[in-house]
Amino acid sequence: MVARLLKYGTEEERRIATPMTADLHGNDFPAGWEPITEAEFAKSEFFNGWVAMEHRQMFQENKAVHAYLFHFHGGDGIAIENDFWGGKIRYYRFGCKHEYSEALGDEHAVEIGMRLGHCDHAYKCMKCGHFMVQNSSD
Ligand SMILES: [Zn+2]
Repeated sequence: MVARLLKYGTEEERRIATPMTADLHGNDFPAGWEPITEAEFAKSEFFNGWVAMEHRQMFQENKAVHAYLFHFHGGDGIAIENDFWGGKIRYYRFGCKHEYSEALGDEHAVEIGMRLGHCDHAYKCMKCGHFMVQNSSD
């Protein structure tokens, strides 16, 4: 899926790309929302690509958090908030903190709807069930 701004997608595309916020009120935080450090952001999946970007204005104890949420394939994501007057950037994560199993066999390839190649290894998150395939030849 090609990353794109949500405002250009259809409703169905938005629901698929943003499962953590699709059914949330516009002012609520997605599950698993927590601040992360700049170092954690630097090592995040953000730099491997994201599927959708969303702007949200969320409220916590009467304080608004304006953030850009970057949704990943696994339903989790990273958010960036700019504090204009304070001259600061804050980083957050949301969604499942995936805990992937050891590599799964070919029988699970059917479950994720693909045929695994020689160097492909499939993993399943033990918490949410998300599948991930990595190619060890890369
Ligand atoms: Zn997970």
